[in-house]
Amino acid sequence: MAGSVIIHTIDCCLTSLLKKVTGFLKGPSGPKCPECSSVLIDEACPNLDCPIKVAEWLLRWCSSEGVDIPALGQAEAAQLAGLRLVLHPGELYELGPGDWERLEGVTSEQLEDIRRQIAGSKSANPSAVLYGLYLPKIDEFLAKRLVVAFGDIDALREAEPELLQAIDGVDEPLALEIRHWFRDSVNRKALKMLEENGFSFAG
Ligand SMILES: [Zn+2]
Repeated sequence: MAGSVIIHTIDCCLTSLLKKVTGFLKGPSGPKCPECSSVLIDEACPNLDCPIKVAEWLLRWCSSEGVDIPALGQAEAAQLAGLRLVLHPGELYELGPGDWERLEGVTSEQLEDIRRQIAGSKSANPSAVLYGLYLPKIDEFLAKRLVVAFGDIDALREAEPELLQAIDGVDEPLALEIRHWFRDSVNRKALKMLEENGFSFAG
């Protein structure tokens, strides 16, 4: 009797182990991102390179509260991200004529506008640049307060969390998120590329 209970228990363990192994090999299941097929977590795509996120970042960057490139809209941002021509806003400034030609439905007049506005965007004020960088929970108002308090983006990127928390609207978790954002490798690449292409983050 005791023996059959033990065998039954081992059998159950093996079945549940087998299920876990199969589940692991198959990968997580559930609804997937329509763009990059990553399994959604809390209804959001966890893939940082997801073209949907990249396009969102580009639109934020190009918005009128950002560095103001109105000729580059939703359709162009989606194509730049979908074709993997751009992973962050810095790469907008290094696209060659051949890259732009790959976009569909863009007239030569519109391309000319985009190029002119991209060149002009390099003199955007620091709070517009900060808003365009799309840090977590930094809206246009908080971007302005941060630039007023720290003077420039370089000072902000070096700021200790305690100093960040002194700003109205920044609590401890957000201060840590801001610091984390500036240390992220993709974000650092974006900032470096923007600087190499004429942006100045020092006051
Ligand atoms: Zn995705």
